[in-house]
Amino acid sequence: MERVLLVRMGEIFLKGDNRPQFINALARRVRYAIWPLHGRLELAQGRMYVKGVQDMDLCVDKVTKVFGVHSVSPALEVEKDLAAIERAAIEMTKDLSGSFKVSARRADKRFPMDSMQINAHLGGVVLDNNPNLHVDVHKPDHVLSVEIRELAYLHVAKIAAVGGMPVGTSGKALLLLSGGIDSPVAGFMLAKRGVELSAIHYHSFPFTSEQAKRKVVELAHILSQYTGPIHLYVVPFTKIQQELYDKCPDNQLTILMRRFMMRIANRVALEKGCGALITGESLGQVASQTMEGLQCSSDVCTLPVFRPLIGFDKTEIMDRAQQIGTYDTSILPYEDCCTIFTPKHPTTKPKVERLRESEALLDVEGLTEEAVQGIEEILVRYGDAVENSVC
Ligand code: ATP
Ligand code: MG
Repeated sequence: MERVLLVRMGEIFLKGDNRPQFINALARRVRYAIWPLHGRLELAQGRMYVKGVQDMDLCVDKVTKVFGVHSVSPALEVEKDLAAIERAAIEMTKDLSGSFKVSARRADKRFPMDSMQINAHLGGVVLDNNPNLHVDVHKPDHVLSVEIRELAYLHVAKIAAVGGMPVGTSGKALLLLSGGIDSPVAGFMLAKRGVELSAIHYHSFPFTSEQAKRKVVELAHILSQYTGPIHLYVVPFTKIQQELYDKCPDNQLTILMRRFMMRIANRVALEKGCGALITGESLGQVASQTMEGLQCSSDVCTLPVFRPLIGFDKTEIMDRAQQIGTYDTSILPYEDCCTIFTPKHPTTKPKVERLRESEALLDVEGLTEEAVQGIEEILVRYGDAVENSVC
């Protein structure tokens, strides 16, 4: 009798001819997640099983965060021998109370009992051994599932996982990661669709503090438990902000700053093999996130810009941030570069031509180049202490 974690795959089943490729990608991600637990992964008949793990609760926690996993069940694996299955059924149900039913599925039709017979027989065995249980086939508190496959698997809990597609199966994108609530959620949503993430952060030291930067590393760290390692590029942004402040009209400062962010991100993305940019923008959230504002910031990009939160209310984004575990870090009160030099009356209907006229007063190429040259690269891996992230 072995304790295993049964792993069910999600949308991968829709993938037709590419299925083996997707299954391999998922297997790689599950292996990476269970590597610290010294578990091993086995694949059989479209199923995955994690074996050899001591701490099953931790294993469940890690595997349910792997995109592409639909649900998991801690299970007992036994030979297809009735006495062994009976022992496993007793073991699986010994701590339960209330109502239950047995639900058997016989993939191996050579097994001498059919599903109904297995249900009736094991139901009797469980009742004989646990006086705290009674049968209710309509609305049971617990369902003892018995799967007769190449071996027999018994489980009573089906735990939902994050779903989505294995990271890496939809390419790689560069997330503009601020210290706020929105951008980590935006990154999570694209990673869930199979996108591998790199991240870029604009840092205006000394106007923004070392703590503000550490907060962003911590946000990337939380995301990395779902996405795998993240390369975080920290861009020195002070000089650009000061130049804008000194030379450009006050009401355009925010949108001009955003154009610099997008311009630099587009360039870094191309250099690092990313096929798109991701931002946490949401329509109408602030002055720069009007339709005209979004058009002006996309104007400097050649890559597609994914804005998965565009139709979300702030409260919906906050709920998501709570669910994925980034909220408490996001609300730490360190200033972001967006909040310094904020104009009193930012334009909500910027015109690309006007912005280009203002940019003509600056050495846009030189400033961009200098910022890119100054990038600090941090490799963020889940489990590494944030202070020790590899620089
Ligand atoms: P967030 O949107 O993450 O909660 P925020 O509300 O402070 O942070 P906004 O002003 O809404 O940021 O900026 C819109 C988007 O621009 C962010 O979601 C993020 O993708 C990007 N962005 C803003 N500031 C930065 C920064 N300092 N570094 C990297 N990206 C940034
Ligand atoms: Mg925002």
